[in-house]
Amino acid sequence: MTHLFRLMAPLLTFVAAVALAQTPRFETMPTEGTRWFKGNTHTHTLESDGDSPPDTVISWYKRHGYDFLVISDHNVFVSPARFSHFVDSSFLLIAGEELTTAFGKKPVHINGLNIPGVIQTIKDTTLLGTVQKNVDAVREVEGVPHINNPNFGGAISAEILAQVQNDKLIEIFNGHPLVNNVGGGDSPGMEEVWDMLLTRGKRIYGIAVDDAHHFKEEFAPDRSNPGRGWVVVRSRTLAPQEILSRMEAGQFYASTGVVLDDVIVTPTTVEIRIRKKGDFKFTTEFIGDGGKVLLRTGANPAIYTLGGSPTYVRARVMDSNGAVAWVQPTFVIK
Ligand SMILES: [Zn+2]
Repeated sequence: MTHLFRLMAPLLTFVAAVALAQTPRFETMPTEGTRWFKGNTHTHTLESDGDSPPDTVISWYKRHGYDFLVISDHNVFVSPARFSHFVDSSFLLIAGEELTTAFGKKPVHINGLNIPGVIQTIKDTTLLGTVQKNVDAVREVEGVPHINNPNFGGAISAEILAQVQNDKLIEIFNGHPLVNNVGGGDSPGMEEVWDMLLTRGKRIYGIAVDDAHHFKEEFAPDRSNPGRGWVVVRSRTLAPQEILSRMEAGQFYASTGVVLDDVIVTPTTVEIRIRKKGDFKFTTEFIGDGGKVLLRTGANPAIYTLGGSPTYVRARVMDSNGAVAWVQPTFVIK
C-alpha cells in the first residue's frame, strides 16, 4: 500500500494542483504587519470655500481620532509643510487639491492626493474628456485621483464613469447635504452605480468622505459638517505612498460609523469582524454582480463562503442606528 501511494503521490499532487487552478477562488493579499488607519480625503478650509482656517480644520480631525487628513481646497494647494507642527507618528497630512471645473452646467470635481503643488484644471470638448484630462493631470504628477460626488448636479453617469481610465476610487458617500448619494426617481444611487461598474469588470473602489466646509456654528443636517464619512486603510506604515497604494488596491473599508476589527479574505471565504457597540445590532449583506445580495446575515463575524460564479463580492455592514461600513470588493479568479 505504502509503495503504491509512493508511486501515485506525484500524480495525486498534479491532479490536486489542476483542480485548485480550475476552482474559482478569491484573490488574497498579504496582511502581515499591517494595522488600520482612519482618514478623510476631502475637506475644505478658508483657503477656498470652507469657513475655518486650516489650523482649525486639522485640529478638529486630529482631536477626533483620525490618523490622516487631506485638505482639498478648490483649485488651491494648501501645503502640508505649513502645518508640519500637527504632524507626528500618529497623525499625517497628505497634500491635496479638489480640481474643480465643469462641462457646461455639469460640475466635474476630481481630487488629487499626494500632489506636489497646484494642478491647473482642464476643459475638454466632451464631459468624458473633461473628467479624463483632469484625472490624467493628477496622474502626470504621480498623484492619486478620486472622482468626487458623481451624482452632484446629476453630472457624471455610470456610462461616463465606465469609460474613464486610470481612476480607481470614486465617492460612494459624500457628507455634503446636496450631493444625491442615494439617488432616487430615475437616477441610481452611488452604490448602484458602483455595482454597475464592477459588474462591467472595472476594478474600482468606493470611498466615503466628509467634503466638510462648516466647522463653526451649528452642526446640522443641512450644513456641511465634518465626521460623516471616512476610510479606514490597512497599511504597515502611516506614510502617504503606502496609504494611497493600499487604497488603490482596495485594502480599506469606507464608513459612516460602523467600525470593523478585521476583514479576512481566504481563497474561499470573506470574514468580517464587526466592533461591538452598546446594544447595537448589525446586518451584513454580501453583494455580487448586478448588485445582487448573495447573503444577508446578522452573525458576527459575518462569513461568506464562495459559491456560484460571482466575479466580485463586496459587503455592506449596517448597524441598527443607520450607520454603514462598505467593505471593498474581492475579485474572483476563475
Ligand atoms: Zn469638495
